[in-house]
Amino acid sequence: MRRPLLVANWKMHKDRGEARVYADALRDALTDPELGAGEIVIAPPFTALETLAAALVGSPIALGAQDVSPEAEGAHTGEVSAPMLADLGCKYCIVGHSERRGQHGETSAQVSAKAGALLKAGLRPILCVGETQAQRAAGKTAEIVAEQLQVSLPRIDPPAAGNLVVAYEPIWAIGTGVTATPEQAQEVHALLRKHLRTVFGAEAEKVRLQYGGSVGPGNIQALMSQPDIDGALIGNASLTPETFGQIIANSYLENTSP
Ligand code: PEP
Repeated sequence: MRRPLLVANWKMHKDRGEARVYADALRDALTDPELGAGEIVIAPPFTALETLAAALVGSPIALGAQDVSPEAEGAHTGEVSAPMLADLGCKYCIVGHSERRGQHGETSAQVSAKAGALLKAGLRPILCVGETQAQRAAGKTAEIVAEQLQVSLPRIDPPAAGNLVVAYEPIWAIGTGVTATPEQAQEVHALLRKHLRTVFGAEAEKVRLQYGGSVGPGNIQALMSQPDIDGALIGNASLTPETFGQIIANSYLENTSP
């Protein structure tokens, strides 16, 4: 049984004061049973990590980062390492988001190195893959995401696979208000799972697969009811605690209904 995982990706939003207010509001909005159902993570900008860590003390909400250096330390101006993130209390870190691949030319080989650095420091990578609209229209979705996954996976032994999270984020669905249908998402998630089985064998069943792309309170239930969708990576709709709280509540209701 894979524990559902909902991650708020704040991207480049919120200063420290706003992060504090958000954390308080989210804690107020969530009831204990909702918090017990799955794992909830907030990934703020680097600048708000320490503030949010303090604001979340005593809460089951975990802390995540949005990127990391593949190096542990050294002359790498502007970079932040995995041990530094661990020191701040981060448990998760997003790698290979399409905005980093697209805006910063990040390659799958670099993503693999980053994911490996995170695992070495005891953090869980959330490794993103996804196709463009043109690639989908050309019937290339399966080929593209399989190739991205193959090269982006960290070089680890199967027993470590349970610490890995893979997020399928079709680029055409990110920030657009257009969501993949639950069936479209499940089709790709099943492919990802199949590929993971070839790499990790039975341990692939422990890898959590998230969907990301215009997730909101209205579509989370249907997405999470798919057999290979274990959670969601949420951008815009995670920016207000009320909406993120609603997404959490709705995902919980679906997953625990008889
Ligand atoms: C994202 O960028 O990871 C994302 C899923 O964004 P949104 O929810 O806004 O589509």
